[in-house]
Parts: sequence; structure tokens; C-alpha cells
Amino acid sequence: MATLRIAVGAMELRKKSAKDVMTKIDDVFMLSEDQVLNAETMLKISDSGYSRIPVYEQNNRNKVKSLLYVSDLALIGKDNNITVRAVAGFNKRKLRIIDENMPLIALLEEFKLGDYHLAMVAQSHDYEKTNNVKFVANHLDHFLANSLKVVEATAELLPPLDPENDMTITLVGLVTLEDITEELLQSE
Ligand code: ATP
Ligand code: ATP
Repeated sequence: MATLRIAVGAMELRKKSAKDVMTKIDDVFMLSEDQVLNAETMLKISDSGYSRIPVYEQNNRNKVKSLLYVSDLALIGKDNNITVRAVAGFNKRKLRIIDENMPLIALLEEFKLGDYHLAMVAQSHDYEKTNNVKFVANHLDHFLANSLKVVEATAELLPPLDPENDMTITLVGLVTLEDITEELLQSE
């Protein structure tokens, strides 16, 4: 029964893309880089329960430029009133931004490479017509043939969006490995 559910889940991964499983942008817990890490902010962070928090610039939730890892806060004294910018700038967690139409199979492959397990999701720019279709056509048969043994990601087919050079990016959500595994295990 469990095997069947996973097989159904694998079929879902084939049909679905990041936007189908992401947490929508309005529900994403973020911090402004100007926010001071005082007792109140620390409490908010701990109450949120999240371990990775997008950090935005210039009071604009669309300008997410870094990630704050809650684990990076361990060494901060609570009376130092240091800013989010200082901690995020010091630890420099790389930020991956993907297109909302990125197929879940492709995203799972990236996550499996292990560099990161969270990405911000941006509104699509013709991604479907170019990379998406090509990628799915090339890899779907292979993926299904190998069941859960996912093929190596083909990075050049899936160029990361660059927030520095693409000012037209509109963020629509956040996706983590857990969102995909939930889909795979049909556990929603
Ligand atoms: P971990 O389990 O590694 O502590 P986490 O609980 O912070 O991480 P995940 O387990 O990866 O996060 O994801 C759980 C759910 O929370 C997913 O649906 C994901 O989209 C969502 N999520 C993760 N981070 C945030 C955030 N900063 N704001 C809102 N939702 C988030
Ligand atoms: P966990 O260890 O709880 O699974 P994780 O795998 O998400 O967390 P880390 O193990 O803390 O992340 O970091 C692994 C590496 O991936 C680090 O070098 C980190 O900077 C990088 N990384 C984490 N998130 C991202 C991301 N969204 N985009 C690009 N790189 C990231």
C-alpha cells in the first residue's frame, strides 16, 4: 500500500511544479535586514518555528536577498542589539530563487544534490516554453524507469534566476524539500 502511494506520489511530481506545493509569499515568515535582533524579535523568530528565514531589503518583501539561519543566532548575546543584516551578512547563506513552473522532479534533483533544501519561488518568465519542456522530456522517462533513483540534475538546463541582474522578479512563495516529500508520500 505504501509503495503504491509513493508510486502515485511520483506521478504527481511529474505533473506538478513548485507553485503547486510552495508556501505562498503572504504566509512566508520573513525579516527586514534592518530589524534589530532584540528580545522581541528573537521571540518572534522562535515562535515562528522556522529554521530558515528569508531576509528582505529596503522594506520591500519582494527584495529578498539573503537567508537567516536560526542556528546562526546561537552565538549572539541577546543584549547586543545587532541587526539581521549583520548576522545574514556575516554568514552569507546563498539564496536560490527558482521559477514557479520548475517541475518538482527537477527541483527534487537539485535538493538531492544537497547544497540547499529551500528556495524562493518567483513568478514565471517564459520558463515553461524553454527549459521546462525540454527538461521534462529528457528526464521523465529516465526518472520513471528508475523509480525513486533520481537522475543527476542537469544544471545548465535550469539556470538559476539572479535577483541582482533581474530586477523584474516577483516573488510568489517559498519551497522546501519537505513540501516535495509530502507530495511524494501523499501525506497532505
Ligand atoms: P526544519 O524542519 O529543517 O527545522 P523548517 O521546519 O523551518 O525546517 P521545513 O521543514 O523545511 O521548515 O518546511 C516545513 C514547512 O514550512 C514547508 O511547508 C515550508 O514551505 C514552510 N516554511 C519553511 N520556512 C518557512 C518560512 N520562513 N516561512 C513560512 N513557511 C516556511
Ligand atoms: P540542514 O542541514 O538542516 O538540512 P540545509 O541543508 O538546508 O539544512 P545547511 O546544511 O545548513 O542547509 O547548508 C548547506 C549549504 O547549502 C551551506 O553552504 C548553505 O550556505 C547552502 N544553502 C543553504 N540554503 C541555500 C539556498 N537556499 N540556496 C543556496 N545555497 C543554500
